[in-house]
Amino acid sequence: MPASHGTASPGDGTPPGDAVATHCPYCALQCAQTLTRTPADALLPVVVAGRQFPTNRGGLCQKGWTSAEVLRAKDRITTPLIRTADGGFREAGWDEALDLIATRLAALQTQYGKDAVAIFGGGGLTNEKAYALGKFARVVLGTRFIDYNGRFCMSSAAAASNRSLGLDRGLGFPLADLAGADAVLVVGSNMGVTMPPFVQHLAGVRERGGLVVVDPRETVTARLTHDDKGIHLAPVPGTDLVVLLALAHVVIAEGLTDGTYLERRTTGLDEVRRSVASWWPERAEAVCGIPADELRRTARLLAAASPSRGGRGAYILTGRGLEQMSQGTAGVTAAINLALLLGLVGTPGSGFGPVTGQGNGQGGREHGQKSDQAPRLPDDHGPRRTCPRRRRVGRGPRHPAGSGRPGHATA
Ligand code: SF4
Repeated sequence: MPASHGTASPGDGTPPGDAVATHCPYCALQCAQTLTRTPADALLPVVVAGRQFPTNRGGLCQKGWTSAEVLRAKDRITTPLIRTADGGFREAGWDEALDLIATRLAALQTQYGKDAVAIFGGGGLTNEKAYALGKFARVVLGTRFIDYNGRFCMSSAAAASNRSLGLDRGLGFPLADLAGADAVLVVGSNMGVTMPPFVQHLAGVRERGGLVVVDPRETVTARLTHDDKGIHLAPVPGTDLVVLLALAHVVIAEGLTDGTYLERRTTGLDEVRRSVASWWPERAEAVCGIPADELRRTARLLAAASPSRGGRGAYILTGRGLEQMSQGTAGVTAAINLALLLGLVGTPGSGFGPVTGQGNGQGGREHGQKSDQAPRLPDDHGPRRTCPRRRRVGRGPRHPAGSGRPGHATA
């Protein structure tokens, strides 16, 4: 994880001369970069350097510090290409290409109707581009069909957050806050590979032996728990939900919940009690393969880290490994319920959050790329941008992994 690459130096956010302060385009960590223009005969048009920022603290991963290389990739398309009669392409100017697109779209809509044209965006677009794309679809084309890859990517996390918290968000706290926690539970994310600069924020919790990683594989992230830095729980693939239900079971059964928080800030506790009642650790062990004692140890570790029991704080983080199972929404709901049982959500130094993947997955849906979620458009969950005081514990399926049918990974 080099701090810089090239000739520019990480600075304080105010690059000199012809340098531009920006951010890596690739993933949600949005590491800060400085791009410095190079002489015309240089191999690359810019050099990339890490820049101080709370998420990356000057570091970049390989994707970030090689990001300028695509600018000179041999197969990079730098001019519009128009399909020819023989199936190939010919180069064209922008005016010709744009005229062709407009003419063809208009002809299609005239012949088949407005919905004959669909728009598909992506989580790599900035807020402004996402908003413009949504406007283009709804106002210019008048089509109902606009969507983006983020619908699938984080749909389970969004659905679970909406129904439990009334709000769909990524992390609801500064990433740097993780450093102060006594425990961090990571379910279904391998950030040690996917966003390596993230790992530095786990240094504090590792020092205190509080990193818990749930992953069937011994990933780079799971190995961060080695040497008494935490606990690696390796469930049978597809049974992460059972692990979370068992942890909630232990928290309730051993009286480790934050009763005051639950009373004041949540509803639906009885539903959760019923939904986890049958997932005592020994039964869970039979399904997920994790020893009952390990499940109990993990639940107690999380509870001890909770502010209500005198700890510095605890976080529960989910990733696509949990979310993209057939029961992903139930899985994230169970993770949120566990966080609520411990009084973590909305408590300083603690919290729940899905670790976003793409550079702007959240902004993509907030700004109009989902057909059902335009900016300022009410949805099934009530007016947007309201933050209910009471979080809903529960609403997960009562027997989500019962009858020997645990969730199955779909991606
Ligand atoms: S961790 Fe993500 S944002 Fe940071 S350099 Fe790598 S790809 Fe870019």
